[in-house]
This record gives sequence, C-alpha cells and structure tokens, in this order.
Amino acid sequence: MKQMEEMILREGKVLPGDILKVGSFLNQNINTELLAQTGAEIARLYEGCGVNKILTIEASGIAIAAAVGLAMGVPVLFAKKHRTSNVDGDVYVTEVHSFTHGADYGVVVSKDYLLPSDRVLLVDDFLANGNALRGLIDLCDQAGATLVGVAIAIEKCFAGAGDELRAQGVRIESLAMIESMSEHEIVFRS
Ligand code: 5GP
Repeated sequence: MKQMEEMILREGKVLPGDILKVGSFLNQNINTELLAQTGAEIARLYEGCGVNKILTIEASGIAIAAAVGLAMGVPVLFAKKHRTSNVDGDVYVTEVHSFTHGADYGVVVSKDYLLPSDRVLLVDDFLANGNALRGLIDLCDQAGATLVGVAIAIEKCFAGAGDELRAQGVRIESLAMIESMSEHEIVFRS
C-alpha cells in the first residue's frame, strides 16, 4: 500500500538490530487516517473469504486489528501475554519468542472466544522472524478454527519467515514489504 510505504520512508527510523521504529505513526502516536486506510485495504484484500473473526496479539497489533474488524464488520480478539506458570484450563496457551525483547513469553486466549467454527484472519503490525505469527497459528490450531489468512502492516522480507510460511501454504498479505533496510536506505519489494 503506497501510503504505508510513503509514511515509512518519511517517518520510519532504522535502529541497530534491524529494528524499524514507527512510533510516530503506528506503534505509539497512531495516525488515524493511515489506520483507517490500512483497515479498508485489508478488508478489501480478504473480501468474500468468509472471515468472521480477527485475531491479534497484544499490544501493538490491537489498533490495526480493530481497524480491520471495523472495516469488515467482525469482532476482534487479542491474545494476551501471560506468565505460563499461572494459567487455568479455560485458555489455549502457546509460547512466543519476542523479537523486540529477546525473551520467551506465554500467550493465552480464552476458549470462550476462539471457536472451532471460526474463520480467522490474523493481523499484526510487523512480521519479522514469524514467532508471533506461529504462536497465533498454534492458538487457532488448538481451537480447531480455520485460518483464512494473515494481514501484516510491515513485513521485513529479509528475515525470511513470511516467504517460508507462504511456501507452507499460508496466505500472507503485507501492506509494506521491506526487502532491505539500513540507516540510509529502505528498499521495498516491488
Ligand atoms: P516476529 O515474531 O515475526 O519476529 O516479530 C513480530 C513482532 O515483533 C511484532 O508483533 C512486533 O511487535 C515486533 N517487531 C518485529 N520487528 C519489529 C520492528 O522492526 N519494529 C517494531 N516496532 N516492532 C517489531
């Protein structure tokens, strides 16, 4: 999506460790016009696919997922980060390795909200090494829900996980696909 790429070029900052900082429009100070365009574009891409639920992971995926849910007219569910030693039987639980914090954490979702009858679209802000996404896919599998596809605001293609998951048959739509990035240049996949 042109607007996402332009905003990344204008306001994104590449930090050491292959981190793209987008706090000025996506992760902290949210540009609501871009957010609405993001929701509308993802809704367009998955129109007619029978999606009845959006699933994301707290915290940074929630705003985008809400925009998509509004545009598609479906509820938005977010998986919560949780200490895995302290969960009861009413939740599905999985382990995720955090890209930004370098540690593992538990992620849970209530069995009441993710159902075998659900046709789920997974939404997140970034796709890098794919750990967050694999965790969400695992939660869907545990629930017996159908994974319709994935929508990502910014994919770091150079990390490889997006193409790996596509090769395994997962539909992934990313609005900005970064092929390479450095302090001086950000190159998008054409
Ligand atoms: P993955 O699990 O695919 O390695 O990383 C995805 C998660 O890590 C996303 O939910 C996002 O919050 C965070 N993340 C990964 N790369 C970046 C980045 O370059 N910038 C920011 N702000 N977050 C990132």
